Amino acid sequence: MTEAPAKTRTAQCQCGQVRVTVTGEPAMVSACNCTWCQRRSGSVFVVASRWPLDQVVERTGEVSRFERLGASGGRVTLSFCPTCSSTMWTELEAMPGVIGVPVGAFADPAFPAPQVAVWCDQKADWVEFPEGMMQLADQRRRPAERG
Ligand SMILES: [Zn+2]
Ligand SMILES: [Zn+2]
Repeated sequence: MTEAPAKTRTAQCQCGQVRVTVTGEPAMVSACNCTWCQRRSGSVFVVASRWPLDQVVERTGEVSRFERLGASGGRVTLSFCPTCSSTMWTELEAMPGVIGVPVGAFADPAFPAPQVAVWCDQKADWVEFPEGMMQLADQRRRPAERG
């Protein structure tokens, strides 16, 4: 049996200096409503795709890094374009060997939708995710209490 060639996608920053090319399908797509993601993006939630490093074909361009502690105490490292400030990938100490790439950086209307929304306890009141999408109060398995 021959497999169809894996789909390749390239994310890029606003100015085009930094590019990330990935192959295959993301391991996970999630919408994060935490206040850190709100402040880093300037939006009320961030949609991120997770890619095991063996699906990351190429990363080009120069990035600056910002490091902070995540809610669970592990380090979170954000790599962003020093020219235009777009966040291009994130690394979680708790999830080695995987990078998160903001879905918006692909600017692809056909990109797979998130399967889960996390940190819904911090979600903007007016945001409503589609019915049937898993919604968690934080990043663990606890379901959100408000809709
Ligand atoms: Zn840039
Ligand atoms: Zn977040």
